[in-house]
Amino acid sequence: MLPDLERLIQLQDIERRAAAAARIVAEAPGALAALATTLATAKAGVESAKAAIADNQVTRRALDRDVQTAQQRLDKYKDQTMAVKTNDEFHAMQHQMAAVKADIDRLEGSILEVMMTADALQERLAGAESTLKAQTAAVAAQQAIVSAERDANAAIASACAAERAALVAQMTPSVVATFDKVARQRAGVGVARAEQERCVVCQVRLRPMVYSAVKRNDSITQCDSCQRILYFIPPTPAS
Ligand SMILES: [Zn+2]
Repeated sequence: MLPDLERLIQLQDIERRAAAAARIVAEAPGALAALATTLATAKAGVESAKAAIADNQVTRRALDRDVQTAQQRLDKYKDQTMAVKTNDEFHAMQHQMAAVKADIDRLEGSILEVMMTADALQERLAGAESTLKAQTAAVAAQQAIVSAERDANAAIASACAAERAALVAQMTPSVVATFDKVARQRAGVGVARAEQERCVVCQVRLRPMVYSAVKRNDSITQCDSCQRILYFIPPTPAS
């Protein structure tokens, strides 16, 4: 086989490995960002539960103050009742006291609801905190894996670049240029095997002259259809 052809096959293998490594390196930032988002969401869950608890406590303090105020008003009415002189005044006072008592009942009902909400919120916080703890550990483990894969593949990519440089130095520059041009246009694949009178990559039938040239493996022959440089691997004789 023409040395350039043999090296083209090796070059294609290097390019394939380099592209796979580059893809993993390129995907790493997105994967790391997604992990950071997962963690941020878990943190936000804890923060929102804490904020809801703080709101609940504010509501509770306000209700307590309202009950206290109503209670003071009730005490004042009781004192005033002692001093009333007429039946009408007495009934008016009784009426006002009943209204304040109803207020206190209503406020105490609200306090009970707020206390039940407080219990539910504590449960929500505990759940959010345990989710955060689990996510923190899982995300750290995933980040380590993604970072390690990224670094390993960055190393593979540079090893491939060195391999390519060494190989290309031994090749005819115009052949390398043809390969690079076709590979750029054809999803990174610049060479193709020919078999049974066809280019195996694009499946187009080769002209007999082209196929017989390819079978000799002694020239740089491109597929008429996809332009890939063709090579031929003779069938292994049955032993
Ligand atoms: Zn082809």
